[in-house]
Amino acid sequence: VSKSSGKNCYTFAKSPEQQLEIPKIVMINRLKRAIISNAFHLSYQPQIVVEAGRCQIFGAEALIRWTDEDGHTYMPDDFIALAEETGMINALGQWVINEACQAIREFMALGIAVPISINVSVTQFKSDDLVGTVKQAVKENRIDPQLLYMELTENIFVEDEKKTLTAIKALKELGIKIVLDDFGKGYSSLGLISQMPFDLIKVDKCFTQGIGLEKEKKLAAMIISIGEVLNLQTIVEGVETREQVDFHGQNGGRIYQGYYFSKPLEKTEFMDLCLGKWSLENMAGE
Ligand code: C2E
Ligand code: MG
Ligand code: MG
Ligand code: MG
Repeated sequence: VSKSSGKNCYTFAKSPEQQLEIPKIVMINRLKRAIISNAFHLSYQPQIVVEAGRCQIFGAEALIRWTDEDGHTYMPDDFIALAEETGMINALGQWVINEACQAIREFMALGIAVPISINVSVTQFKSDDLVGTVKQAVKENRIDPQLLYMELTENIFVEDEKKTLTAIKALKELGIKIVLDDFGKGYSSLGLISQMPFDLIKVDKCFTQGIGLEKEKKLAAMIISIGEVLNLQTIVEGVETREQVDFHGQNGGRIYQGYYFSKPLEKTEFMDLCLGKWSLENMAGE
């Protein structure tokens, strides 16, 4: 977990005792080098469909990690904001798109046809070459575009709603699916969201993890029913306990992603899971 401390430093908790303060300029240079030397990888967190008490794999979310020269692994919250701020997010985002498409090709070669979701940040979404990059990656890897899901957050609506809709439509014309991530956490209106051609919505963690109180329970249930009204599939994120799964299940939840089922996995672990070499009970992950 990291926090940006003050203006020009990044603070990393290497361990609870040891806080590491790194000047921003140093982080920028490290990130630059990491992009050149390709120090990133994607972890795959399984998404699980629960039906009549049985679990099946729905797909996975690809989550970026960066391992630096001394073996320290940075999580996205440590560097995505910096990448956005410096414009490096475009190079990074392109890498993610290509990497995910390659993974889908590898999965397809093994007979595994599960959707893989990637996260796209606002800056990347607004850049001119996003559609071109996706088109190229899909073509080069000869993958079924329907297996590529793109997760967007409500922030994409901050500026020009019309332009955003046009961009989403252009992406959908490529055949990929569009997901609204962190639903309920942002501030865009329900009216606006209902007009957007999303294929799926992901209920934000805060509605899962806050179901301790009566009010929160009702809110969490409402969020899922909004998905139903919009006729969209819903993924409930951040389920950590059996109680949370049961609660959402009673309120129409069907697809889940969270530590209760599995932490993000290495690509080969996720493959093995899909191939039935593992079962959900003995998955470990990060
Ligand atoms: P997100 O897209 O909402 O992804 C879900 C985050 O919740 C992931 O954190 C995942 O590891 C974490 N998570 C999943 N299940 C649980 C759970 O049961 N409990 C808890 N406490 N957490 C859970 P991660 O990997 O650290 O990623 C954080 C955020 O960074 C992501 O949130 C996403 O917004 C962003 N991100 C990740 N990969 C990329 C990427 O390739 N590109 C961009 N632009 N952003 C990315
Ligand atoms: Mg996401
Ligand atoms: Mg999310
Ligand atoms: Mg994580």
